[in-house]
Amino acid sequence: MKKLNDTNSDLSVPINLRKSILPAITIYGDEDGKDLAKILWGLVAGQNIRFLTPNTEDELLNEAYHSALIFIKLSSSDDAYKINLASKLLNTHGVVADVIAITEEPEIRKRLHVMSQDFDAIFNREILELPEFQRVLLHKIKKGVRRLNARIQDDEYTTFKAYLSSNADAFIVFDTNKRIFFVSDYYLELYPNSAEFFVRGMPVQRAFESIAREMNLSSNDLRYHELKDFWVGQRGSYEFKLDNGKCFRMVATSLPEGQGVIISTTDITLYKQQEELLSAQQIELKDLLQKEQEASHLQKQFIAMVSHEFRTPLTIVDGNAQLIERRIETIETDEIARRARTIRSAVSRLINMMEAVLSSNLLRTGKLDLNLREFSLKELIETLCNEHRDLSKDHVIISDLSMLPDLVFMDEKIMTIILTNLLSNAVKFSIDQPQIFIEGGTQDGMIILRIQDNGIGIPENELPKIFDRFYRATTSSGIVGSGVGLSLVADLVSLQDGTVHVDSIVGKGSTFTLKFPMNTGS
Ligand code: ADP
Repeated sequence: MKKLNDTNSDLSVPINLRKSILPAITIYGDEDGKDLAKILWGLVAGQNIRFLTPNTEDELLNEAYHSALIFIKLSSSDDAYKINLASKLLNTHGVVADVIAITEEPEIRKRLHVMSQDFDAIFNREILELPEFQRVLLHKIKKGVRRLNARIQDDEYTTFKAYLSSNADAFIVFDTNKRIFFVSDYYLELYPNSAEFFVRGMPVQRAFESIAREMNLSSNDLRYHELKDFWVGQRGSYEFKLDNGKCFRMVATSLPEGQGVIISTTDITLYKQQEELLSAQQIELKDLLQKEQEASHLQKQFIAMVSHEFRTPLTIVDGNAQLIERRIETIETDEIARRARTIRSAVSRLINMMEAVLSSNLLRTGKLDLNLREFSLKELIETLCNEHRDLSKDHVIISDLSMLPDLVFMDEKIMTIILTNLLSNAVKFSIDQPQIFIEGGTQDGMIILRIQDNGIGIPENELPKIFDRFYRATTSSGIVGSGVGLSLVADLVSLQDGTVHVDSIVGKGSTFTLKFPMNTGS
């Protein structure tokens, strides 16, 4: 009779998907008085076994599936039919029970021996009464139960395998002894060269070595040891990247009741690529946002600057116009001409500034482009000094620019803004017998400009703050201002890689020192 290999029952199977059903002894054809059932019941007392007595052929075929042993009672009238039934049972997939014919007729028994190979044994009814029969029966039950268990395990294995194989991830299942129990098809696809190691019962170490070989991981690679620790430890998860760019994530999941471990391997290359792409995009976005914020900061700064910078030339224009108006009757033509020139120069500075505003990228990008070219810094400073002299007759403005190079390579418009700010501050914050001294020269390859006044000064503890936007020193109370000028100066100085430094003593005056690298046009 075709039966599953008995040795299967010795395999330690970590999965128990169904509740176990008690194995059964099935008796068929014992309708009259259930005589057979009674005798057998008496013989197996105390065994973990149940009795089934199906009434129809269909019931029998159904119950046979759970049976360790099947008895079929024959009588002279139906032997052909019962032989046929034994043959059906033999060919029913999953039926593992021995099928035993019982008959009371010695002649039939003899005949059946010859005719039927499908019965595992043919017993005369009398044998049941013999004392040795119990031993034979118990032995047969034991064998049957073992086969039944093996079949159940095999069913479970098939179900389990079907479940794992239908999963898109690659799995390898280890039993309690860390030996391979199951390898999914997808896993085999992942490591085709290791197929010969992916057999049931293979120790984890050997399977690992083969996989490591296939992944080109040698034992002097750190990943080899990390991976080995993960495989042998069979706990947690591990992610790694191969030299060919592929990324994998392995996760160890314990089966219930310590029945073993499933190690799944997922190809996360695409996921990782997308993750990297996403983080690159995030960085890019952050960068853009930062630029945007910087731009909007600079734009605000810029708007403040424009309103601030326009004030000085407008004051010049207004001051000169007022003077001409006041003295219209007496004013000399020469003086009108001089004042008109001053007005024109202030207006031309306004126009220059507006052009700088409109032509620069500042409004669009928040960035002020440097427009470096050669010009005479000396002349620029002299013009600005004259303008301020004109504005306030009380102020003595002295300049010493003899040590400055004739031409400098800088941004003239930006230098105008810087110097106008510092000069008008010096004028504004010097009240009694004001004297302003402007000095220019070079030192260690740097252009040095110093604007010194004998004004109100700045308290020492406030010095670090005066370049902050909107900050005004406590000493400046009562003097108009917005606190924008110096923060703009600091920005514009650093735009030209320069530095600005202030020394001040309250009541004595302040000195602003500017340093710029000496650029050459080439
Ligand atoms: P504002 O002149 O509009 O107040 P600034 O940004 O130009 O703004 O200057 C910031 C502050 O620094 C001023 O309010 C003032 O307190 C101080 N400060 C600047 N320059 C001088 C100076 N030459 N003498 C004294 N204090 C000054």
